[in-house]
Amino acid sequence: MTDTSSAIAPLLIIGAGLAGWTTVREFRKLDTTTPVVLVTADSGDFYAKPTLSNAYAQKRTPAQLVSTPAAKMVETLNVTLLAQHRVESLDTAARSAVVAHKGQTQTLRFSRLVLATGAQPIRIPVGGTAADQVKSINTLDDFGAFHQALGLDPSAAEPAAPKTVLIMGAGLIGCEFANDLVQAGAKVHVVDPSTRPLSLLLPAAAGEQLQAALQAQGVVWHFGTTVAAVDGAGGGLQVQLADGNQVAVDMVLSAIGLRADTTLASAAGLVCERGIVVDDTLQTSAAGVYALGDCAQYASAGQRTLPYVMPIMNAAKALAATLAGTPTALVFPLMPVSIKTPALPIVVAAAHPAVAGTWKAGDGEGIWQFTDTEGIQRGFVLTGKSTARRMEQSKATQA
Ligand code: FAD
Repeated sequence: MTDTSSAIAPLLIIGAGLAGWTTVREFRKLDTTTPVVLVTADSGDFYAKPTLSNAYAQKRTPAQLVSTPAAKMVETLNVTLLAQHRVESLDTAARSAVVAHKGQTQTLRFSRLVLATGAQPIRIPVGGTAADQVKSINTLDDFGAFHQALGLDPSAAEPAAPKTVLIMGAGLIGCEFANDLVQAGAKVHVVDPSTRPLSLLLPAAAGEQLQAALQAQGVVWHFGTTVAAVDGAGGGLQVQLADGNQVAVDMVLSAIGLRADTTLASAAGLVCERGIVVDDTLQTSAAGVYALGDCAQYASAGQRTLPYVMPIMNAAKALAATLAGTPTALVFPLMPVSIKTPALPIVVAAAHPAVAGTWKAGDGEGIWQFTDTEGIQRGFVLTGKSTARRMEQSKATQA
């Protein structure tokens, strides 16, 4: 074990996803000299994770999704990158982290620490002999494995024979993959215990529009049921649904949601609930230790996790200012999310789940407004051509 305690303690950032890299980028706009060390279990290459669920139809390979290679990020942002290094433990009182790489460990000291460890796919128990073949896609490496398993080769003269994919979960990510894969020529089944797609996010009528639009493209829905078992059957997979139906497929993709990765933080004694609990300056329960991104549970969002791009951009900006010496409270603006379902484009601005209210159809096709008990508009959903009304509806909505 190497001990680097004699070196000047840097700002240490764990995680090279959007949250980690955007924090470095924003910090460097304000402070060009403080040493920054970024440790990540992956390659450190910068890519836009949302492209994972619309890359297949565009025939983009995993390598083509990298927008800036790690070496370029290091050069531009003047940061020390420890790629393929995993932080194994933290001591927030002693301000040190134990980092493992190729069987060796070293202890890194830090002046301040930022946790940007992301989220992990939720897995539910599934029976059957091939249950371990159920895949999830939350990283570039996951996408690479998926890409290879589906056998897509953009340079091939003949397109590969269409594959059949069963997606578990009709939420945002499940619907995006369903649209992408069906558009690319795959046969797609989606299984969800609810009665329609995006049931937690959209009013019933909007969900039904999406259901019809994807069905028209060939998606086969299985609502009100779950996957009971996945068995191997001579190269293919046989999926047994809880309602008694069986589906023969080439691949099963689980898209039932993500859970904040609090592994390191909880082991270090930091307060964690649905995510790493942070105050409005993004500080965790330990002084000088901060968190943002998919791993964080924000006081500024009424103790919610917000696993989307816009919250990360806002959080990174506020955190960079705090780290550069100007304590800055994070205030989230209204942050509508665009759902990447070209069969029916959707923009949704969700109200806090604790806000009581009702959905009503707006003044036109494809528009719904969520108003609270005092009649104030607190959210909206736009579909199809009405997505062009995003600005107007954002102005009319109170975050
Ligand atoms: P991650 O990108 O998960 O990064 C976590 C980092 O932490 C990784 O580098 C990992 O290696 C590192 N790490 C974790 N533990 C350790 C450890 N112990 N030691 C070292 N390193 C560690 N949002 C939108 O707003 N719009 C969209 O259209 C959209 N589409 C999406 C589509 C898909 C398929 C997915 C999966 C997500 C989508 N999102 C979308 C969500 C958005 O992409 C995420 O909110 C965002 O990318 C999360 O970034 P992050 O940096 O918090 O986490």
